[in-house]
Amino acid sequence: MSHNNQHFKIVKHKDYLYVIQEDISIVHSVYTNDPLNMYLILGNHSALLIDTGCGISPLKPIVDKLIGSRKLLVFNSHAHWDHILGNEEFGEVYIHENEEKIVSEPYDLSYAKELFAKYYANRNFSIPPAKIIKKLRNGDVFDLGNITIKVIHAPGHSSGSICLLTNKNELFTGDVAYYGEHFLKYVKN
Ligand SMILES: [Zn+2]
Repeated sequence: MSHNNQHFKIVKHKDYLYVIQEDISIVHSVYTNDPLNMYLILGNHSALLIDTGCGISPLKPIVDKLIGSRKLLVFNSHAHWDHILGNEEFGEVYIHENEEKIVSEPYDLSYAKELFAKYYANRNFSIPPAKIIKKLRNGDVFDLGNITIKVIHAPGHSSGSICLLTNKNELFTGDVAYYGEHFLKYVKN
């Protein structure tokens, strides 16, 4: 199943797994061949959304429709702008403890006003955070009902990058590993 909702493309990958692809080339041309992948995992009683995209188009209505009556958990794989700027739509978001501070404050995009003008000028280049930020730590396990999610801290792309491993042996890597050239940074712990 696949359909388009503004600039999101929703692909049902498995019974319990959706990929929500955000076309962010409209914001930044470097992403032309590289949509941003967010993942939605549906357990029996809870669902997990991994990342919230760049916050220029409503994401929560799409997620709400897909999860039905399940309780929703929202994780950020790390604190880069293209993974967190939809956080405001969700009441509560989890992120690795190393990057909790970044996503607890309004995100300042004024460092690249020209680039971001079209989508963020009306919000004065300052994007509010989610109301509640909760910390993830290496080894944390979450139960969605028949699917469990284990948090693996994997710094390098950023200090709070995580991978998420399911009990079905799927590994969600955020920007720790993806197709194409990798952006890595020396992180002193
Ligand atoms: Zn990143």
